[in-house]
Amino acid sequence: MSRYDVVEQGPPIEVFQMNNLFLNDSHQNKVNLTIGAYRDENAKPWVLPIVRKVEKQMAEDSTLLHEYLPVLGLEAFTNASVAMLLGQDNPAIAEGRAFGVQTLSGTGGLRIGAEFLNKQLHYTTFYYSNPTWENHHLIFMNSGFTTPRQYRYWDAKSRSLDIEGFLEDLRNAPENAVIILHACAHNPTGIDPTREQWERIADVVQERKLFPFFDSAYQGFASGDLDRDAWAVRRFVERGIELVCAQSYAKNFGLYNERVGNLTFVLASSKQVAPVKSQLTWIVRGMYSNPPAHGARVVATVLNNPALFDEWRSNIQMMSTRVIQMREALRAELIK
Ligand code: PLP
Repeated sequence: MSRYDVVEQGPPIEVFQMNNLFLNDSHQNKVNLTIGAYRDENAKPWVLPIVRKVEKQMAEDSTLLHEYLPVLGLEAFTNASVAMLLGQDNPAIAEGRAFGVQTLSGTGGLRIGAEFLNKQLHYTTFYYSNPTWENHHLIFMNSGFTTPRQYRYWDAKSRSLDIEGFLEDLRNAPENAVIILHACAHNPTGIDPTREQWERIADVVQERKLFPFFDSAYQGFASGDLDRDAWAVRRFVERGIELVCAQSYAKNFGLYNERVGNLTFVLASSKQVAPVKSQLTWIVRGMYSNPPAHGARVVATVLNNPALFDEWRSNIQMMSTRVIQMREALRAELIK
């Protein structure tokens, strides 16, 4: 007898279960299409050369200590992340109404953001695309949201974006519903709205007073161009829409296991920045107290140094070009 006898076996996480099936399979020519992590031409994990370089410098730097970071993270990192997302010259930054919170990668950003929206703004309904990354639902439910809803996205018949269904579902959403939007490289379909379609989505968000929560897990990784991949978020900000955006450095820096992320807030005015930050501080304090430093230091070092930044950009261009080439090659083989 154990007090744990009441615990039932939970279901497996599909993507990790698939990965285990792959690892245990003895087929010579097996191919892993499960976890979305970059592989080089030998199907091996790839540490970005820029990351290796900065880590070597850090190893020799005796001024780097293992003291706690502030609860909301390393400022050199969060400020650079906000600038990368919104563009350095964004008026929202100059006006002091945009700021970032360091988070445990993209997942942690979604979790802190959802918790804040539920506890502080009392939002309870969230919409996610059908289909979406399978973790959105769980993260929002665990954050206190009670009403999950889907919006139409993928039209299986025409094999394209169901923009009319998407807009209709948003039009029927209640005021203050949180709409999770993939900033670029929609997971799993890979289809993003065109700029004209994004304008129509923003129209409905404004008309119906919905709250956009962008999930940016692939900035720079999708097109190879950081600005192009952030276009939708920047356009919403330009239209005066308040929003949050969870940013992940897992893919574009290859820092999967370092859990490096940022949650960007854009408010209508700088007046509310201090109280919002104070409430976020208490959420983080009660969850994990403060974030880890290593990955955030690597990213901050690169983003704040123009020469290193250029090197990183060529690293992501290489990865995104290879991903695009692989897709085209796969498609060609399938057709053949
Ligand atoms: N959002 C989407 C759409 C993703 O595909 C992923 C990772 O696959 C994430 C968020 C979060 O990833 P991480 O927590 O590793 O940054």
